[in-house]
Amino acid sequence: MTDSVIVLDMLNDFVTGAIAAERAERIIPTLRDELLPAAREHGVRVIYANDAHRPEDFELAVWGPHAMRGTEGAEVIPELTPADEDDVFEKRFYDAFYETGLDQHLRSLGVDRVVTVGLHTNMCVRHTSASAFFNGYDIAVSADCADAFSEDEHERGLAYLDYVYDAEITTAADLVDGWESAAH
Ligand code: ZN
Repeated sequence: MTDSVIVLDMLNDFVTGAIAAERAERIIPTLRDELLPAAREHGVRVIYANDAHRPEDFELAVWGPHAMRGTEGAEVIPELTPADEDDVFEKRFYDAFYETGLDQHLRSLGVDRVVTVGLHTNMCVRHTSASAFFNGYDIAVSADCADAFSEDEHERGLAYLDYVYDAEITTAADLVDGWESAAH
């Protein structure tokens, strides 16, 4: 099993800015101190998929301007600055696969399971996981590294992915255990 971790929209506008989700603070330490360092240590590619909106984007009609391309709001939060060996993709839709080249990139890396984390469980995590499923990947969500505007939205996002796509709903500790045991 070759995993990749896709970090969705851990950007200034999503955490502290235009569309801040207070609950995002909950997942930062687990991402920063547990999941992402362990992924890098075990050769699991970390890929950031970041909103980089243009003024014409359809999504702005729903949310208003956020994570506008080239602005500070569209930058990854300082706590989770990508490492040199990570990849960074820009996206303009909830789905990180849509017209980004992400599928081709994952195939070139030999990835067969996509682990999604970040914001929001019921939106970009959901749509990106669904797209990974449609492209033939196994999918997993680290429930303690993803969040939404409310507990209810988070829980319903996870339940939907479990029910509709048979996603593995897991935790950072279980993922790290899996990478460690695969290394021995
Ligand atoms: Zn957006």
